[in-house]
Amino acid sequence: MTSLTFYGGVGEIGGNKVLLEDGDARIWLDMGSTFDFGSEYFVEYLTPRERFGLRDYFALGLLPRLPGLYAADWLESAGLPHEAPRFSAAFISHIHFDHTNHLRFLDAAIPVHLGIGTKIILDSWEITTRGMDLLAHDYRTFRTGGSIDVDGVEVEPIHVDHSAPAAYGFLCTRPPGPSPTPGTCANMDRTRK
Ligand SMILES: [Zn+2]
Repeated sequence: MTSLTFYGGVGEIGGNKVLLEDGDARIWLDMGSTFDFGSEYFVEYLTPRERFGLRDYFALGLLPRLPGLYAADWLESAGLPHEAPRFSAAFISHIHFDHTNHLRFLDAAIPVHLGIGTKIILDSWEITTRGMDLLAHDYRTFRTGGSIDVDGVEVEPIHVDHSAPAAYGFLCTRPPGPSPTPGTCANMDRTRK
């Protein structure tokens, strides 16, 4: 049975963070931050105390407490135990931060798939933009026409028009035939920004 759990991107533009589960496959579709992330609690210089890792993020309910998702540094700084990754991969639809920014919390052992154009832009931004650092990951790039098998689910990136180049939706199937649900995983935001 296939399930989709939405940890962001519902009733709002951006912040997409969708977990697809099918058999052994546990696949994240985007790992974004909402545009108003934490604005109920923080303003200007008042920010989460990152020396305490994820403590503030969890205490304020800003991030889901999911075992096997977060990097050891973020957990151990919060006094929490690190667990081995429980997720197969993350797929990034495009470069905008409301689809990428929470990669910085992700365990570096979880493979991150993204278009080669998105990776080129990300590399450039991390060099040239102060404060832009999604940290090290097991990045794996794809091109239009390819597909990736992830624990039995085939993920086919479908190039789509958007205000960022190298933007993709993802067609997810379980070979040899289409998965009963969801079939098509269209997690692109529909608006231009
Ligand atoms: Zn976008």
